Amino acid sequence: MKNEGIIIKTIPYKETSKIVYLYTNDGIKSVKALGAKKPKNNSFGFGEIGNIVSYISSDSNFPSVSEYEILYSSYKLTSDYNSIMALSKIIELLNNIPEDSIHHRIYPFVKNIIMNLENNPLKALSIFLIKMTFNFGVSPKLDSCIICGNDNVIDFDFKLGGAICINHSNKDNEFLSIIKEYYKEKKEIEEYSNCDYKKLLSYLNEYYLIHTNIDLKIKW
Ligand SMILES: [Zn+2]
Repeated sequence: MKNEGIIIKTIPYKETSKIVYLYTNDGIKSVKALGAKKPKNNSFGFGEIGNIVSYISSDSNFPSVSEYEILYSSYKLTSDYNSIMALSKIIELLNNIPEDSIHHRIYPFVKNIIMNLENNPLKALSIFLIKMTFNFGVSPKLDSCIICGNDNVIDFDFKLGGAICINHSNKDNEFLSIIKEYYKEKKEIEEYSNCDYKKLLSYLNEYYLIHTNIDLKIKW
């Protein structure tokens, strides 16, 4: 069976092998990579977290990989701290993805995010985290005040998880329009507006912690 996926977790299996977990169009799958712990073995690259691979696996309940090809190697990110950090947060979230998510729509989106990480990792991570809120059932409320329902919203409150109106906030928050744009619009990464990503990611870290119980541990 031919498959494609992002490697999100590996665990040792017997002496020299690994069980490899991949995020795919159909959700998380696991396969045995025999000999993957030996550097000279030809399935070594199959066990690298963050790699995107196409592979052929045997047709059984606990399939093993017979052939694979690396479509994207995460190795090239190893010189840039922000890229590695962003990749590790994406992988962590994929490991926690609810089983009933719409995987065939999420997979191509995540693949595109990972393949573009090196250009602007903090922006790519921010877009990923904001769009993914939907899959964790905690979509931000954006069009009316989360406290009173008023449409005249000017601010976004990460703790409450929604927009707030002019009566409940005294500050214009640049992130309300960013979250609206990132959440609702669909375009290439570079076409989205830019903002202060370190600040936004600190807020998103808080948002995920409060609303999904996932601690992404994004710290500067
Ligand atoms: Zn209000």
